[in-house]
Amino acid sequence: MKKLALPAFNADYTVHTCAAGITIPDRAQALTGALPVINAAESQYLGLAPLGELFKIQSTDGVTPLLTTALMGVIYKSHFVRSAATRALYDAIRSAPAHQICPLCGQRIVGSVDHYLPQTLHPAFNLTPANLVPSCLDCNKAKLAKVATKAEEQTFHPYFDDLGTERWLMVQVQPTSPPAIVFWVRPSAAWTAVLAQRVQHHFNVVGLAVLYAAQAASELADISYGLTEIGKASGPQAVREHLHDEFKSRDARDPNSWKTALYEGLRDSDWFCQFGYLHIEAKP
Ligand SMILES: [Zn+2]
Repeated sequence: MKKLALPAFNADYTVHTCAAGITIPDRAQALTGALPVINAAESQYLGLAPLGELFKIQSTDGVTPLLTTALMGVIYKSHFVRSAATRALYDAIRSAPAHQICPLCGQRIVGSVDHYLPQTLHPAFNLTPANLVPSCLDCNKAKLAKVATKAEEQTFHPYFDDLGTERWLMVQVQPTSPPAIVFWVRPSAAWTAVLAQRVQHHFNVVGLAVLYAAQAASELADISYGLTEIGKASGPQAVREHLHDEFKSRDARDPNSWKTALYEGLRDSDWFCQFGYLHIEAKP
């Protein structure tokens, strides 16, 4: 759940650029004719988004009488995404995250652009940069069926929501064989109650607990041999110190990546540092 800079261009620019590339006159005119509506909608969006109140925007049946929801969908899919001039804008949005990592899950590779307010209900925002968020395909799909009707049902918006740098992603290490890693959200003291509910909602909708648990299990399998060697040579305290170093390295880059949370949890688990690391590999 990483914050991103808002794209440096607005809806007026994307609409003009898109319309210039449409060779069907009626279609281009329907789009440019809707500019006052699209611009006014963008202003409302930019006013509500920093307050976490986008759920207040009413869904609409079409943009204008000439620019229906279906036509706006075609314009996005067949013109904005495909024509050379607007494809550059689309690619700029899609390639914004560092290392192409999805800002919604922090794990998978960006594979699409997600409409934060969905196209089917909010066609006036189909080409509005503030509503276009880079996303992996799984996060995009997971969000599809979810429509927020109140503040706490809104998922994380990378352009407007800032979770800060305080640690909030935590793990519980369960003393099983192999060890199970349970990820959970500990709300930051800096968050409002609604933001805490939204982060938990996002966590559930995108399925982050399951995603991170699978990644953590794979990471444990990767480090099993090394920890066993350290434990054999120097004992549990050396295992803990090694895990602490691994935690510090990941924390320096991102205090709330699943790896940071994992290494912190492993370091702080007496059971893991003493015995748990010997249980990573399933015994035949
Ligand atoms: Zn994702």
